[in-house]
Amino acid sequence: MAQNSTNNIQIFNKARVELHLHLDGAIKPETILYFGKKRGIRLPGDSVEELMSYVGYDEPCNLTQFLEKFNYYMPAIAGDREAVKRIAYELVQMKAREGVIYFEARYSPHLFANSNVTPIPWNQIPGDLSPDDVVHLINQGFKEGEKDFKIKARSILCCMRHMPEWSAEVVSLCKKYRNEGVVGIDLAGDESLNCNFNSGHCMAYEEAVKSGIHRTVHAGEVGPASVVKEAVDVLKAERIGHGYHAVEDPCLYERLLKQNMHFELCPWSSYLTGACDPDLTKHPSIRFREDGANYSLNSDDPLIFKSTLDKDYQVALKYMCFTEDDFIKANINAASSCFLPDKEKEELLSTLYEAYGMVQSTVC
Ligand code: ZN
Repeated sequence: MAQNSTNNIQIFNKARVELHLHLDGAIKPETILYFGKKRGIRLPGDSVEELMSYVGYDEPCNLTQFLEKFNYYMPAIAGDREAVKRIAYELVQMKAREGVIYFEARYSPHLFANSNVTPIPWNQIPGDLSPDDVVHLINQGFKEGEKDFKIKARSILCCMRHMPEWSAEVVSLCKKYRNEGVVGIDLAGDESLNCNFNSGHCMAYEEAVKSGIHRTVHAGEVGPASVVKEAVDVLKAERIGHGYHAVEDPCLYERLLKQNMHFELCPWSSYLTGACDPDLTKHPSIRFREDGANYSLNSDDPLIFKSTLDKDYQVALKYMCFTEDDFIKANINAASSCFLPDKEKEELLSTLYEAYGMVQSTVC
């Protein structure tokens, strides 16, 4: 598919809101090279081009191949205080340049910690950086970025499907840092590893409900509609990460439409991970739009997908016939379904209405 023809077109040059973005999938390659060199960690290349030939890709592969990409560069970042804070700061800069005025970035605190604190695959240097330290540093990086780039950044902390033993700490970090930039909890990783009612994930989400922590779950990306059902019914998700395969269960899909469930759509990501039919003109996003679903457009892992948020807008315009009005709606949906406290959410919506020249309606 000739994707490059759309690469330089600026689409929807107005204020945007992004809800589904992985901090560990949105690092500048230059920063990876800098910390690799500084820490003496071998990377697959010495230049941005060389590194990106391993880390990035732009033709579909499967989710397992996608997940392997992290192994190439996370050793340079994980476990290093300066690196962890800097990538957070730089993400704010990156998003400000893309016209984003508010974003929620997610990450697993454990996957940025040190090897003697938590067993992660890529950490080569033992140390004492705890998941708690990671959250603190990222909050600081975001705060400094907000000050310098005049946009708003918040975090969602991820539980990982293959590590239910981390989830209790994830929810407790959500609670600890809820007034310092953390707005919600997520469940990421391999969807074939379903939850069971006694798993650490279920208990963490139960605690999140009790404590008023907002909840999203990666579900129905490559996994079937049943994973979406579980996310909504068992984990009490308020938003669904991706959710494409929800349409395959008409009863569930109808229910989600009625509930105004928010779908965090990532079109370019879904093309590259093989989550959907590679023919983007058949993408479930089209169905969501036609059915008036509550959805947003997001970039997911722009480092690996060699993209910016523009790419997702370009794909939606070119292959899914999205209009300017659809983009406006997606951004208002995103603001309405974001995890900010009500007052801040209203302010965000007002800013968008003003940017789009619209008369403000009531927040739903
Ligand atoms: Zn994701």
